Amino acid sequence: MLRLPRRRLLTLGGAALIGTLPAPRIGNPFTLGVASGDPLPEGVLLWTRLAPKPLEPAGGLPPVGYPVEWQVAADERFTDVIRQGTTNAIPAYGHSVHVDVQGLRPGRDYFYRFRSRGHVSPVGRTRTAPAKTASPKAFRFAITSCQAYADGYYDAWRHLAAEEFDVVFFLGDYIYEGAITSAGGNRMDDTLRLPDTFQLETDTLDLYRMRYALYRTDPDLQAAHAAFPWVLTWDDHEVQDNYADDVSRFTTTPKNDFLVRRANAYRAYWENQPLRWPRQPAGPDMSLYRRFRFGDLAHAYVLDTRQYRTDQACGDNLRAGCDDRNDPGRTLLGAGQRDWLLDKLGRSEARWNILAQQIMMAECRYGGPANRLDMDKWDGYTVDRRRILQTAARKPGTVVISGDIHNNYAADLRVDFARPETPAVAVELVGTSITSGGDGKDTTPQLDMQRRWNPHLRLANGQRGYVRCELGRDTMRADYRVMSQVLRRGGTISTRASFVSERARPGLVTP
Ligand code: FE
Ligand code: CA
Repeated sequence: MLRLPRRRLLTLGGAALIGTLPAPRIGNPFTLGVASGDPLPEGVLLWTRLAPKPLEPAGGLPPVGYPVEWQVAADERFTDVIRQGTTNAIPAYGHSVHVDVQGLRPGRDYFYRFRSRGHVSPVGRTRTAPAKTASPKAFRFAITSCQAYADGYYDAWRHLAAEEFDVVFFLGDYIYEGAITSAGGNRMDDTLRLPDTFQLETDTLDLYRMRYALYRTDPDLQAAHAAFPWVLTWDDHEVQDNYADDVSRFTTTPKNDFLVRRANAYRAYWENQPLRWPRQPAGPDMSLYRRFRFGDLAHAYVLDTRQYRTDQACGDNLRAGCDDRNDPGRTLLGAGQRDWLLDKLGRSEARWNILAQQIMMAECRYGGPANRLDMDKWDGYTVDRRRILQTAARKPGTVVISGDIHNNYAADLRVDFARPETPAVAVELVGTSITSGGDGKDTTPQLDMQRRWNPHLRLANGQRGYVRCELGRDTMRADYRVMSQVLRRGGTISTRASFVSERARPGLVTP
């Protein structure tokens, strides 16, 4: 539980008292927008963070707490307020606010806002999950990941905010830990001048907090958070590129040093995302895998493929002839998470089961004479992959959604990828990045090669954007939405490819 400074709690008699607290005036603290997430049938988590000077340490706030009022209404103008209350934004949590609203009605839109020290936040819209016993006709979601700030503009988020989704899945690489030049990297239309601290790789808690603040200052990202509830998981860059459990990408880093960094990163992650209180980390450990239910139509299993994995096989990167990757002692999920998933998935009675996770599950041969595989992906952890796909083979309607790789792929998943004549047991939708990698191209020689060597791939595309997906009772439809550009502002969006898959007979076909 949050421990509040006692003397401040005593002053929280009601809204009228707030203006009389003896604290210095501050500028508008709502520079980072608002967010909601982890929707349940009767509740949702609301988030904001106070930061009047978002690019300064501690958001420019002194180390004292501030009361924050919150409201949830049935209408955008807040004439019908359903729930309200007051909480505290305290420095120990980076002045973040996490409100676990309960007592809402299932499958409804709600509006929310915050108020502190005379300032009112932007209004967010959110939506509760359908009742557990409901039989929804459709579930609409977005597949998003990888938004390197320095790699381009967030116009994709603005386009996404104008669509209709029940949930936005964000599958990792929310921040990148590397240096950002004072001009904001490759964002070419601004005369931005970032403080020098952004040229430091993130490792301390303050640097991670400031990195989240920089990202959240973007109005297009704020619009996407304010439009829908998000369900997030992380990948590597929220801590460090290609780390595995307690192993840094630099093998010379002592484990204890790396775990201190991981603790800082996980703490900043929890503070800056719409996640419930019980998920907050204890030191370097944070439980992020969890399940969401959308009536009887879809269950979503949100996975963490970083925190518990065996170190990458054969020295990581692209390798050929690596037998270690098939070692039954290796795990991507860790025994606890894997057993949880196999148990829940095996007993699921939902029409569809979504595995929301970071990295590409389909085998992906890179082609060329050596025909290498990527040891950071499921290809480096084949025993866990096989067990999941064997379970999926008994469960029609398994959809794996992935990020990480900055390309769009659509794949039929087989228990044995070397036997293309066998039936697909599930489908995978790999969403490209929002910005990471810059403008990108429809195809490249490497993507051509991958298509040639992986007959289960129905699409390989290298543009930016997101995937729009709708699950009906019997049919899934996915639209790959791609951006004309991200290095300059004003990129337009279009649908590059669409696929459908029948629940009873998995396999991606063009509609
Ligand atoms: Fe990425
Ligand atoms: Ca990644």
